[in-house]
Amino acid sequence: MKQFRSIKGTHDILPKDSYKWHLLESIVHEVCTKFGYQEIRTPIFEESNLFTRSVGEESDIVTKEMYSWKDKDNTVLTLRPELTASVVRAYNQHNLGSLAPIQRYYYIGPLFRRERPQKGRQRQFHQFGIEAFGSKFAEQEAEIIAIAWHILSKCELNEKISLQLNSIGTSKCRSVYREALKNFLAPYLTELSEASKKRFNSNPLRILDTKNEKERSLLKNGPKISDYYSKDDQDHLDEVKDYLSAMDIPFIINPNLVRGLDYYTKTVFEITSNELGSQDALLGGGRYDNLVENLGGRPTPGIGFAAGIERFLLLIDEKKLKLNQPNPDIYFICLEKTGLSISLNISNKLRLKGYKIISDPLRRSMKAQMRDANKSGAKYVLILGEKELQENTIIFKNLENSHQKNIEQKKIIKFFDNLTN
Ligand code: AMP
Repeated sequence: MKQFRSIKGTHDILPKDSYKWHLLESIVHEVCTKFGYQEIRTPIFEESNLFTRSVGEESDIVTKEMYSWKDKDNTVLTLRPELTASVVRAYNQHNLGSLAPIQRYYYIGPLFRRERPQKGRQRQFHQFGIEAFGSKFAEQEAEIIAIAWHILSKCELNEKISLQLNSIGTSKCRSVYREALKNFLAPYLTELSEASKKRFNSNPLRILDTKNEKERSLLKNGPKISDYYSKDDQDHLDEVKDYLSAMDIPFIINPNLVRGLDYYTKTVFEITSNELGSQDALLGGGRYDNLVENLGGRPTPGIGFAAGIERFLLLIDEKKLKLNQPNPDIYFICLEKTGLSISLNISNKLRLKGYKIISDPLRRSMKAQMRDANKSGAKYVLILGEKELQENTIIFKNLENSHQKNIEQKKIIKFFDNLTN
């Protein structure tokens, strides 16, 4: 019979790894909650136009990476390739801005992009992220970058990463700069890579993103967007820099950072790590002051970031992740069928007290169960055999120091109460 396999670029998260995800997810829940952010969960698929309108018709995501299909009622749907658009859609649909002038959300979930799979790049991947609506001021940038920074600290990653910051100004600044950049590049057009040639017409700012060394050195002599900032653009960026410095968050200004999505204005940032290889971006975000309005809502400034969970897990120290391994506290070995009611009863009572307990449902031998207990990483073993059943006792064994003793069955819960106290 044909055995099925997962689709290219998608991965099963097996129990040998899922506990690592729990660690990162619990850090995200904890830190976001500390900053007053609340979780939002939106559907996995949306109307395609939502992404075309927000991410941009010319973006890589829309031109080549979306998983889209026509539904039976002819609506074109898409598996979400990013989450900001969905969160903004929900914000508008539920009129969330009317609840309070500032709305702070975070999310965790899967995304889908039909990219060429490689290390750190999948077709189904997962992100956690933040969206904050309502403030146009630089302290909002400071707050969300601080959240990223706190999560990185909890993961012990601050030493492995670099925070890059830039401003791409407002759309007025960008359109003047776009022309200046095109004028500068025009004489070299034939020498540019195919990708950059295409971008020259569709989205010239993205040429700044190039990894091509020749193009990079050419751009060093090109115009800088900072020369086209309005006073407000410059003041805003200066404030962001001041607040980051006040929080001791190190950053570098990268004038070539533009990010691939259309909806950004002013601040953009990215956190990268050279330990990730070619897919070195760990997290990216920026301000999107026009997106809520462009998607049919009231004019509302917004800002957010998204971080790749798989890439975080590639970077977090394996030892730190291992600490979160869910080893049982107790392995309950019951050797007699007539003892099962007792062992099930005691196990449940101990679970209610907070102990993690596993037992063997295969009625295997003492030797096999003991081997399993050692492998499980349990701290203690309880053994209920024929002799113990007759004497109404249970053997308690500490696997860490091999001490063992007999305990009366009716005193076993109390025994464990005292063990923790
Ligand atoms: P983006 O939405 O493209 O700004 O991506 C934000 C973050 O999501 C990146 O910095 C990566 O960590 C992660 N990411 C983006 N695309 C992928 C992918 N195809 N596979 C795995 N992680 C990804």
